[in-house]
Amino acid sequence: MRFDVVTLFPEMFEPFLRSGVTRRAYESKQVDVRLWQLREFTHDAYQRVDDRPFGGGPGMVMQAQPLSDAVMAIRADRGDAAPVVLFSPQGETLCHDQVERWSHSSGAILICGRYEGVDQRFIEAHVDVQISIGDFVLSGGELPAMLLLDSLARLLPGVLSAEASHIQDSFNPALDGLLDCAHYTRPEVWQSPEGERKVPDVLLSGHHQNIEQFRRRSSLSATQACRPDLLEIARARGLLSAADEAWLSSLK
Ligand code: SAM
Repeated sequence: MRFDVVTLFPEMFEPFLRSGVTRRAYESKQVDVRLWQLREFTHDAYQRVDDRPFGGGPGMVMQAQPLSDAVMAIRADRGDAAPVVLFSPQGETLCHDQVERWSHSSGAILICGRYEGVDQRFIEAHVDVQISIGDFVLSGGELPAMLLLDSLARLLPGVLSAEASHIQDSFNPALDGLLDCAHYTRPEVWQSPEGERKVPDVLLSGHHQNIEQFRRRSSLSATQACRPDLLEIARARGLLSAADEAWLSSLK
């Protein structure tokens, strides 16, 4: 799986690619990330890649030519028809299902926008998919690119030390798309500023069935409190049992 990232700030990716659990995936090339400095594709003597918007208005716009040349050079280097992804607030918002699909793909060419955005003609000529990471505006597409690379890498076999651990994460089909349960670790009793806080007894009981029930209920409670829309989806798919429904009713 290979991702080619076109950016004005390749240095932003260096600490990212060398940190945390996903580092293994990048270093082993299980996820082969290649960085391309957009300025190397400009014909401008001053290496400019942006210009003022036609029609006036604030800010600058990324020019089509350097982006187009970068995509064509990467295509020649890859020798395949990898999709071109532009990070943009106008794209479809990234979600678990999409990340899962990318984790099974052979990769893509990722375009990190800057300034006011990208000349529309480049988008029409080259871009296959636009991805947003939420209804807010960042200064550039580098953080969204890292978000995609991080979230897909942790889904790959062997990347997380406990191989199955992503399966228990929020949004995962194994959790019926619900949010993750509450987690606790040592010490059993923690002295918080407001007083003693103890780990729920059931987690210390060693009774696996009761622990599973506690976790399911914790997951249902969190989802009801924070993302009731996910509960509705799970319900519509017939994924909530009678015991789940009884627990949810008891919370109301
Ligand atoms: N003028 C654009 C708009 O209002 O839609 C915003 C441009 S933003 C300042 C510069 C670049 O950051 C964008 O071209 C895009 O690559 C990236 N970006 C900003 N917010 C984003 C988001 N929510 N999701 C994905 N990319 C984003």
